[in-house]
Amino acid sequence: KPEITYSDLIFNPIGIISSPYKEKFGIPRQPGLVTEAQATLTLLPPYNQPETVRGLEQFSHVWVIFVFHATHDQGWKPTVRPPRLGGNARLGVFATRSTFRPNPLGLSVAKLSAIQVQGRTISLVLTGADLLDGTPVLDIKPYLPYADALSQASAGFAQETPPAMQAVSFSALASAQCEQQQARWQTNMRRLVEQILSQDPRPSYQQGQPQGRVYAMRLYDFDLRWHYTPAGIEVLELSSN
Ligand code: SAM
Repeated sequence: KPEITYSDLIFNPIGIISSPYKEKFGIPRQPGLVTEAQATLTLLPPYNQPETVRGLEQFSHVWVIFVFHATHDQGWKPTVRPPRLGGNARLGVFATRSTFRPNPLGLSVAKLSAIQVQGRTISLVLTGADLLDGTPVLDIKPYLPYADALSQASAGFAQETPPAMQAVSFSALASAQCEQQQARWQTNMRRLVEQILSQDPRPSYQQGQPQGRVYAMRLYDFDLRWHYTPAGIEVLELSSN
């Protein structure tokens, strides 16, 4: 029996994510925080056959193992600064869910909302995912509550769901644009924007800084712009230019 050398271990994507998140900034830091976001995982040949997903419809949730393709070229360090700790404390890379890892693999659980089969196009509709558009997926596994949901588990600095900013308001312009984009993308756009921004995408070192600065992220095919006021977050516009 030939010996396996580790360099023989090469993995190729089995699918690609299509997601409303077109850039890293603004993507929630874990799945399930923005439940209004829907992504689609489309299987690549030769996996795009109904047989590969036979029985998967019995599961409400799946694990998605993917590549942090947008940051893999930035390498890794033994320690990282988790945003949850305000960006000051350093922890070992293996004690965090940082994207900058020796093997840039991500692991997300997502609700499996539908399996769509149209000829050779097989897509899984995933709800609440934290995945960038174009993310290569290496594997899909069914989520097994009896083995995977551990209610007694302790999680140190990440025990609790991150606190959300409560107040997200919309300018008149942004409200009207939400209506338009909602019709185009068949998503509750107002709720999606509220959920994304209530996670406060700013890096922690900017969170105490003076208000006034306008932030933007690319969502679908528009730029979402907002700023911070004493009352919370105000959405300024959803601009299609
Ligand atoms: N749930 C995954 C995990 O624990 O492995 C990802 C956690 S990581 C902290 C979440 C961040 O990964 C998101 O905020 C987003 O900016 C980033 N991200 C998502 N997809 C990515 C990709 N394809 N390449 C690089 N970064 C990505």
